Amino acid sequence: MLLNKSEYLFERAQQFIPGGVNSPARAFKSVGGVPVFFKKAKGSIITDEDGNEYIDYVGSWGPMILGHAYSPVVKAVQDASFNSTSFGAPTEIEIQMAELVQEMVPNVERVRMVNSGTEACMSAIRVARGYTGKEKIIKFEGNYHGHGDSFLIKAGSGALTLGKPSSPGVTEGTAKDTLNADYNDLKSVEKLLKKNKKNVAAIILEPVAGNMGCIPPEPGFLEGLRKLCDQHKTLLIFDEVMTGFRLARGGAQERYNVWADLVTFGKIIGGGLPVGAFGGKKEIMDVVSPVGPVYQAGTLSGNPLAMSAGYAQLTALEKHPEYYVELEEKTDYLAKRLRVVLSEHEVDYHMNQAGSMISIFFTSEKVNGFKTANTTDQKFFRLFFHEMLKRGVYLPPSPFETWFLATSLTYDMLDQTILAADEALAEAKVRYEKED
Ligand SMILES: *Cc1c(COP(=O)(O)O)cnc(C)c1O
Repeated sequence: MLLNKSEYLFERAQQFIPGGVNSPARAFKSVGGVPVFFKKAKGSIITDEDGNEYIDYVGSWGPMILGHAYSPVVKAVQDASFNSTSFGAPTEIEIQMAELVQEMVPNVERVRMVNSGTEACMSAIRVARGYTGKEKIIKFEGNYHGHGDSFLIKAGSGALTLGKPSSPGVTEGTAKDTLNADYNDLKSVEKLLKKNKKNVAAIILEPVAGNMGCIPPEPGFLEGLRKLCDQHKTLLIFDEVMTGFRLARGGAQERYNVWADLVTFGKIIGGGLPVGAFGGKKEIMDVVSPVGPVYQAGTLSGNPLAMSAGYAQLTALEKHPEYYVELEEKTDYLAKRLRVVLSEHEVDYHMNQAGSMISIFFTSEKVNGFKTANTTDQKFFRLFFHEMLKRGVYLPPSPFETWFLATSLTYDMLDQTILAADEALAEAKVRYEKED
């Protein structure tokens, strides 16, 4: 049988790259089949190696909030590249970038640029430990903060047991300093704080969870964490790698009016180039070297191409607050009509939405945390995903990911998506029965 180009490339890739991919979320493990290999994209239309076009709801997992190949970003990268791709020395664009970030997110009085969200989160907890002199961190089951050792820890059995490594290669020693709480459950946090009196350096969380599907914070949750952190002299870290510059110019902090001590960024901040950042109050950030003793460094950090791309994208967002209104209107439009279609097909579902982030869970339960997210019918999602793909809609290839909308989506594309969903749900239901 003749292979299409993605199939051929995937075969080839697996001979040289573990699993054929440079990041596991791309491998289609949870939906099966062959990952689509892409060659180009413009706005919200992405084109695969076989020339098929899709409406894109992944947006490179978030960065493409203004669409792919956004002209000011492309031009900024081109222009910067003529002046060298890296100096490993200070440049003016780094200052412009830091000023702009502070303007958009006012409590980021000092910011340090890094090369990924992973690095930003790893560095933020090191800073929290260095600043407080405490060792443990609390994170939430189902939240993702990159692949740093301290974050690859799952809850032990029972809420108060120590964490266990969730990946070989992470030591028990590291695991014992990471405590797991339940998202949207303040009591679980209080218990951990009590049990580990005076030794919790930070609570880190996604202020809107996006990595177990989209799960917004329940009223009072973020406020409650802020209060607990103040009581226990523990730092509150918002991981805004996904939500930063997406939910508002000031991210989730602005949207929910709860302000963290440290914030991490990634994705949108780089305009599609590898950028992360962490920042916060001057007093805290002053522990970072070379001002303070907490070591953190990067040969390519603040890279001129990456800074130019990020600066161009953030500038557009800063200058156009109406983009956020537009994004939310488009997301509402899509969500409302998807609900109608889902109901017409009598599919059990729970839909979560925050700004331009949206997820459909195929379950009859209300999804507000890790346990309820896991009640989603993964087989149904897999079938639905492939039926959507066939109809030219590229959704995140996992039931536990968030769809990201972009300003470049037109109402015509949204209507096409709804029509595709209508057909895909019907077909998925038929196949679901057959597969039993
Ligand atoms: C993507 C993501 C990260 C990791 O960022 P990378 O750039 O992939 O290292 C961390 N935290 C959150 C909330 C993310 O969504």
